[in-house]
Amino acid sequence: MPLFDLDFDAREEDAVLAVLRRRWLTMGDETRLFEEEFAAMLGQGAQCLAMSSCTAALHAAMHQLGLRPDDEVVVPALTFVADANVVAMCGGTPVLADCASPRDWNMNADTIARVLTPRTRAVVVVHYAGQPCHMEPIVALCRERGLVLVEDVAHAVGATLDGRQCGTFGDMACFSFFSNKNLSCGEGGMFVSRDSRRIEQARLFRSHGMTTLTLDRHKGRADSYDVLSPGLNCRITEMGAALGRVQLAKLAANNHRRRHLTDCYARALDSVPGLSRPWDSSDDTRQSSCHILPVLLPQGPDRAAVMAGMRGEGIQTSIHYPAPQSFTAYADQFRETPVAAGICARELTLPLFPSMTESMIHDVVGALRTHLLQQDAT
Ligand SMILES: *Cc1c(COP(=O)(O)O)cnc(C)c1O
Repeated sequence: MPLFDLDFDAREEDAVLAVLRRRWLTMGDETRLFEEEFAAMLGQGAQCLAMSSCTAALHAAMHQLGLRPDDEVVVPALTFVADANVVAMCGGTPVLADCASPRDWNMNADTIARVLTPRTRAVVVVHYAGQPCHMEPIVALCRERGLVLVEDVAHAVGATLDGRQCGTFGDMACFSFFSNKNLSCGEGGMFVSRDSRRIEQARLFRSHGMTTLTLDRHKGRADSYDVLSPGLNCRITEMGAALGRVQLAKLAANNHRRRHLTDCYARALDSVPGLSRPWDSSDDTRQSSCHILPVLLPQGPDRAAVMAGMRGEGIQTSIHYPAPQSFTAYADQFRETPVAAGICARELTLPLFPSMTESMIHDVVGALRTHLLQQDAT
């Protein structure tokens, strides 16, 4: 059983074939429609630019800050390394904020406030596993301290807080459509902002700083172009955008299914002694996108051995995430983040994808129970 499986069917196949037959492969109607449909889903006046990845969108966001070497950007201690990487790539210093508590794995306004200095320029929040952060106090803190707020929404496409979509709270937001995300294009991402100037800057970043697109010149709408600022090539393909549109149409139903499967897991996992889960009490104001199914193993059993045992039964598991302090590139650069350290050491991610069945969940939980007991006995 894989950790994740794509929900692709004839609709995705037809959409990609249609693009191939139209013989226009980049920055065409599919990309424009994907951006418009995604913006309509988000609401709140969000404007969208499809990118080659979430990392490219984060890079575009960080680039806009014009960071100098002493400038600091707060990123979560519990996240994918892309958040720290883009800060470092843009010449700034990433600073880690700890998780709120062993039950709330997101950072909150308190853990952010604790690491702010006069050199802090921005805050990047991640809605871990698809669970929305408590945004109101974070937005207020950033406003009060004059900090730019970026949402990394890679886990949380379609998640809502008080009915409002994640990705509409910050100054900028970045989504991922990597293969294993809730909305899959293989590679792809979305840069989002309600500020047209930020959108225009990201548009230049996406395509060499150029003022016109190949499509405009092809259609005779432009003869030449100017370059307004240095830029990169972070464009999505028309095939990717076409996949994104079909996947976007399936998103609400698939997220609903993920929430149902997560509830099934919650009941089944109650039978595993010593195991805990983040956010295991219901909260009507926050609707998670249930991107992954993280659990916290009891203290004692060897995680690697449990993972190997489950792999032996054909069940793939993973870790979200290793401690950032453990990475060679950042050796000795990060402060201690004790809550995240405890989570990084004992977190295990179980399979979760929309086509999973309840009996598959019982198999996973049964195997987990068996291998935890075996580890306890040794
Ligand atoms: C997957 C992921 C990214 C990177 O997304 P790509 O589209 O692969 O660049 C960034 N942040 C988080 C939290 C992620 O899970």
